[in-house]
Amino acid sequence: MLQMEREQNEMLLVEDLMISSEKVAHVQSGNPLEHALLVLIKTGYSSVPVLNPHFQFEGVISKTKILEEALGLEQFEMNRLSDIPVHKVMDKEVPCLKKEHTFIDALHKLIDHPFICVTGENREFDGIVTRREILKNVSKSYHESKNK
Ligand code: AMP
Repeated sequence: MLQMEREQNEMLLVEDLMISSEKVAHVQSGNPLEHALLVLIKTGYSSVPVLNPHFQFEGVISKTKILEEALGLEQFEMNRLSDIPVHKVMDKEVPCLKKEHTFIDALHKLIDHPFICVTGENREFDGIVTRREILKNVSKSYHESKNK
């Protein structure tokens, strides 16, 4: 990557890269796991953000976590999923970003996660940054530097 492209990427902020909240599929922390699984299957995503009724970020729920919960001793017991709320099973220890963070901050966090949630001062949910968006920028910079 040429110096200029590198600097351009470093100057990009999370708010320039994120998918804003109104376009992000999410579930509520009080929803049953059955509903969360439906949302995940219908959207095709393997995980989505979990919000509380005040639209604050609480965690991330994944298909894997839900299926682990449904697994009984010998078989899946899907009827369990209607009694367990999402907040009992979701991942709470996930990193977040602020809109003011940089492209590089997002890049580092996305090494271990397919998406990172963007939150405000009081954990209000602003959106997500995805690996796809970051890789698109890296690919663009690479091709621009090759054509110089
Ligand atoms: P991508 O890098 O586009 O493959 O997205 C990585 C992950 O981000 C997906 O597997 C989903 O878990 C999540 N994701 C991407 N777009 C959305 C969206 N519009 N709503 C909810 N989750 C999303």
